[in-house]
Amino acid sequence: MSNCALTACSFALAIACAAPASSAGFGASRFDPPQGPYRPPALSPAETYARLDRTTCEAELGQRGIAFVRVDSARGVLEPVRLDGALHGVTFHSELPPAERGASVIEIVDCRLVLALDDFAAQLVSHDVVEVVHYSMYRPPSARWPVARTATRHPGGLAIDAAKFVKRDGSKLVVERDFHGRIGAKTCGPGTGPQPATPDALELRKIVCDAAEARLFNVALTPDFNWPHRNHFHLEVTANSRWFYLH
Ligand SMILES: [Zn+2]
Repeated sequence: MSNCALTACSFALAIACAAPASSAGFGASRFDPPQGPYRPPALSPAETYARLDRTTCEAELGQRGIAFVRVDSARGVLEPVRLDGALHGVTFHSELPPAERGASVIEIVDCRLVLALDDFAAQLVSHDVVEVVHYSMYRPPSARWPVARTATRHPGGLAIDAAKFVKRDGSKLVVERDFHGRIGAKTCGPGTGPQPATPDALELRKIVCDAAEARLFNVALTPDFNWPHRNHFHLEVTANSRWFYLH
């Protein structure tokens, strides 16, 4: 015991404890792996998506039946695409007129964020949302940004600024009008909530809190965060990250 590594000894001990005496040894038909530090926790959706390379990510879009157009290159974006249809019946688009969207850079998005948005759309279906209107997804980095270097957040095509959620009946949940937050206030969890707690405010709050709880995005910033976010949710997948931030 004294000359073996702590982890290895703990592991052996855990196996011995986990196996019922009657079935220990050869012929044991059932064995439940020990819980704890021996087995890493499962990755969240955001972490899983952030690790995908372009080929794997685009294959996953295909598996999910997501219509997209590959973008050859967008400076700073590792896996640029354009959405070419709805996700679970929810279209994500900017405020530009439809005829201008196809050529606009703000409609470009990294493939990995699309997978998170697809999961988000599945949640939005229960709210009867059919459109998410955003201010931008990709925002090109400065002219000095090296062509070959991958960026993060909007310059990396990995964030969306979602401003309005349009329902099937034409009614809207507008972040700036309906969020009813307060800068510095906690956004989700016990004792939190919009003031005043109108039905629209409660629904908007549930939308962002459910997405955060499901770990669809590494970062979710709301009007509670600061004045620049008074009118949108910033939702972001962060590459090479195991942390989450909600405010
Ligand atoms: Zn943003």
